[in-house]
Amino acid sequence: MRAVVVLLSVAAGAGSAALQLLTGLPPTQHEPRINLLAADLDSDVSTTTGTGGPTASSGPLLIPTPSRSARDEARQLEMAEQVRKDRIAREEAERQRRAREAAEEKARHRVVAPVQGTITSNYGPRWGTTHYGLDIANVIGTPIVAPMRGVVLDAGPASGFGLWVRIQHEDGTITVYGHINSYAVSVGQEVEAGEVIAEVGNKGYSTGPHLHFEVWDPAGLKVDPLAWLQERGANVG
Ligand SMILES: [Zn+2]
Repeated sequence: MRAVVVLLSVAAGAGSAALQLLTGLPPTQHEPRINLLAADLDSDVSTTTGTGGPTASSGPLLIPTPSRSARDEARQLEMAEQVRKDRIAREEAERQRRAREAAEEKARHRVVAPVQGTITSNYGPRWGTTHYGLDIANVIGTPIVAPMRGVVLDAGPASGFGLWVRIQHEDGTITVYGHINSYAVSVGQEVEAGEVIAEVGNKGYSTGPHLHFEVWDPAGLKVDPLAWLQERGANVG
């Protein structure tokens, strides 16, 4: 019972004078005990509330281990490399798409000479009238091709030309092929540049085997066929 009172008093921070009043005992018998308790308490307070050593408690949390840092760095490098590869792949795909479209566009507007041979008569005045075509002589049966993509308007008999083919192109231009020996297309058929449509003949009003080639511009005017071909990079020879 007495010991409990002493402990409570010490815990409350009371001095030795208060203990003497409570116990009625001389201070010489209790001083050492009280001092010991006070010393123990001081010691406890010191260890629980003290700041302690900062390196001892916070060190391991703040400094990452070298192995983890290396792993993260490797992973980041790997991701960056993947992003770079993806970008290069996208750029390559885009480059190929543009090249494909450019090739298709070029093919769409490609113009080739309708036949090879010798130019025997050009566009212009001839024999007191106007010759609206370009005459290209070659042996009967020489293939005639569409100079550019288009749709067949006519394929059959025609006054003066014997047989003819007419093709309308995407820009509205119409090309005409006269004196042909035969044709290989039908009305409404779509043809590509370079596709065989007929062969050289000597039919109708003709002075020898040749192709009479005309070009009607979108307005219906008969223009110089050789100039039309040459302006589009096609040469007859
Ligand atoms: Zn002619």
